[in-house]
Amino acid sequence: MNALGTPDWFRAPQREIDAALAAGRLAHGVLIHEDAGAGGLQLARWIAQRVNCQDAQRAPCGECQQCRWVAADQHPDVTRLSPEEDSATVKVDAVRALTADLALTAHGAGFKVAIVMPAHAMTEAAANALLKTLEEPPKRTLLLLVTSEPSRLLATVRSRCTRLRLAGPTREAAAQFLEAARGPGPWREALTATGEGPFALLEADPAALAQLRGDTLATLDQIGSGNLQPPAVADRWARGDLATRLSCLESWVTERILESASIRDATHLSSGGRASNICRLFELSDAIRDMRKLSHTSINKTMAVESLLWRWARP
Ligand SMILES: [Zn+2]
Repeated sequence: MNALGTPDWFRAPQREIDAALAAGRLAHGVLIHEDAGAGGLQLARWIAQRVNCQDAQRAPCGECQQCRWVAADQHPDVTRLSPEEDSATVKVDAVRALTADLALTAHGAGFKVAIVMPAHAMTEAAANALLKTLEEPPKRTLLLLVTSEPSRLLATVRSRCTRLRLAGPTREAAAQFLEAARGPGPWREALTATGEGPFALLEADPAALAQLRGDTLATLDQIGSGNLQPPAVADRWARGDLATRLSCLESWVTERILESASIRDATHLSSGGRASNICRLFELSDAIRDMRKLSHTSINKTMAVESLLWRWARP
């Protein structure tokens, strides 16, 4: 795999692939359902190595030329399809080129492998173009569709794939993984800030993320206590790393909801004030989710942030 070795949380899906290969029943289409940042792409590369490695006894050895080519994204029979730069989607032309290539004979003795990530980025036309290959796959081809949101894939595509689940590690294991990969840093705070798994943070600046989280929580505190008005921060938030701000908000709201629920259970009381507080938290949580969906569109982000924060401002 790489110098870091295999993450523990890869073991279960890897065993599934080993068992399917041993039984000669590996599907032509595998939907890798990862938790965001759990390493779906890296698991897909491992599978590509597993079916192409020259050392049958200990595949993937990680050392033969096939394995090294896959690791470096240079294997002639392993193609990776992702949205082009400046685009959020995988388009139909790219999928057509891919399926035409899959129909050709492999350069080597192994499998032709296509990795589509994130698979939910395929447009409907692109997904339909892929269907034919999933229905009548050429021999020794393997389609690996990686996504953290399988519900956004066409149902017809989903139904033609075997699902392989890649659950993310605990925050502690994720922090240890990042510490081994990148050295010491405030990884726990950085992981909480993004709400994603460690592979999403391999290139990140953990101190900057931890600081962003601290700033977001302090701002919420001030808004909640009436010391700050949403218009004072909305523009800055909208222009900065809004996705991470929203993740920080989301984890904060989730913690508050759990906290409120446990207090209520412990006291067996449902005081009016507390109930209305929980209502506000749930409304805020819904609003954050709506905003995440809209943040890829051309909405006025400053206004959207402002109206989101007004929900938390002291009435
Ligand atoms: Zn090998």
